[in-house]
Amino acid sequence: SKVNIAIDGPAGAGKSTVAKKLADKLSYVYIDTGAMYRALTWKAQREKVNYNDEEKLAELLRRMDLKLSNSSAGTNISVDAEDITSEVREPSVTNEVSYVAKHEAIRKQMVAKQQELAAGGGTVMDGRDIGTAVLPDAAVKFFLNATVDERASRRHQEQLVKGMESDLKLLKEEISLRDKLDSEREFAPLKKAPDAMEVDTTSMSIEEVVNYLYDQVRK
Ligand code: C5P
Repeated sequence: SKVNIAIDGPAGAGKSTVAKKLADKLSYVYIDTGAMYRALTWKAQREKVNYNDEEKLAELLRRMDLKLSNSSAGTNISVDAEDITSEVREPSVTNEVSYVAKHEAIRKQMVAKQQELAAGGGTVMDGRDIGTAVLPDAAVKFFLNATVDERASRRHQEQLVKGMESDLKLLKEEISLRDKLDSEREFAPLKKAPDAMEVDTTSMSIEEVVNYLYDQVRK
C-alpha cells in the first residue's frame, strides 16, 4: 500500500531534486511545499502586503487560487491562473520567503492544505516541517543535510548552467541567513524529527542519494 514519505532539511540540500526522483521511482506524487510559501510571497510582493501583517497575509492566502502540478522537470505553480513557476525561483522571492513563512496563521493554512494533499498516501513531500508538523505519522522520514559550502556551491553551479549571474560568496550568505531564520522561528521551525533518518549528502551524487533513500523505503 502507498505511504507518505517526508523529506526535510536546510536550503540547497538537494531535497526537491531528490524528492522528485524518488517519487517518480516509486510512482508516487511529489509535493513541493516550499513552492506554496514561495507563491504566497510572490503574491504579497505583487499586492504590496507588508510581511509583518500576519492577518493581511492570511487573508491573501485564503483568497488565492494556488495550484501545484507536476511536470517532468519539477513542480509548476500557478496563482489565480497565472503561471509563476519561474518567478518564484527568482532571488527576489527566495530571499524573502522566510519572513512570510514564519507566521502561525500562514503555517496553519499551509499545513491543512498539505495534509489534504497527502490524505490518500502515496506522496513524497519536501519542506522544513514535514516530519515534525505536517506528517508526523509519515511512514518514512528523511532529513537531508550537507555542509553550507557544498550547498552554496551546488546552487552556484545550477545558476551558472542556467546562464544566470551568480556570486558564490553571496549565495553562501543568503543560504546561511535563510537557514537561521527558518530554524529560529517560533512556529514549526526547521528541525530534524526525532524519528527521521539524517543523510549527509555532502559527498554523494543525486543518484546515490535517490538510490539510498529508495532502498530505505523498500526495507
Ligand atoms: O524548499 P524551498 O527552498 O523552496 O523553501 C522556501 C522557503 O519556504 C524556506 O526557506 C522556508 O522559509 C519556507 N518553507 C517552510 N516550510 C516548508 C517549506 C518551505 O517554512 N514546509
